[in-house]
Amino acid sequence: MNGSLDGLKVFMKEVLPNLSDNVEAGLAVPYTMLATLKEEAKNSNFVVSSQNMHYDDKGAFTGELSADMLIDVGINTVIIGHSERRTYYNETDETVNLKLLKALSKSLMPIVCVGETLEEREKSLEKEVCKRQVSKAFENVDSLEAEKVVIAYEPIWAIGTGKTASSQDAEDMAKYIRSVIADIYDKDTAEKVRIQYGGSVKPSNVEEIMKMPNIDGALVGGASLKADDFIELIRKGGVKCQ
Ligand code: PEP
Repeated sequence: MNGSLDGLKVFMKEVLPNLSDNVEAGLAVPYTMLATLKEEAKNSNFVVSSQNMHYDDKGAFTGELSADMLIDVGINTVIIGHSERRTYYNETDETVNLKLLKALSKSLMPIVCVGETLEEREKSLEKEVCKRQVSKAFENVDSLEAEKVVIAYEPIWAIGTGKTASSQDAEDMAKYIRSVIADIYDKDTAEKVRIQYGGSVKPSNVEEIMKMPNIDGALVGGASLKADDFIELIRKGGVKCQ
């Protein structure tokens, strides 16, 4: 819940000339900004994503948006199960699964967020928690659909706190999550699923994180609000492609 339409236009004027063919970059913005961002990003490969959607097609769900409503304004990507939605808006593993199934059935690219709380990490429960979240999210998703999903590993204790998981911790969890996907499907599917790390990623640490073999991208909050930082993230985040 940041920014304004005017601010977004200024941001995009700075960012668009700095996109790279090597790095898939995009923004997930509040609903009111989707159509404007889509317009600003036209003729580019910039990804425009929603931060949420409802799992039902239509009905009495005041304040919600459906997959078709996103598609209506040209959106093809959606974040599902961000920890703030789980914490403040009763998002559960079950609703994440319903949303994932809906997004895939509508050909929206889903970015599914998983991650443990500080309390869970202190009890060494991070793998158990992520396994539960991933297994439930992918229930009834077949392997051809599963490979289109992006998973964002976002330890809750690292989001917006300035505390980043060490690149090795992030890698260990990304590798573990890939093994969970391999157990549900197969190795080939697990290799195709893209796994991002999120949690206080910034220009000063993105390079180290992106060098990790199982980390395919970053989901960035605070550091994506400023155009200069965003441009640096794209530049340094391209380390894998060099
Ligand atoms: C987020 O909001 O998902 C996030 C990772 O935020 P930050 O980068 O600020 O920790």
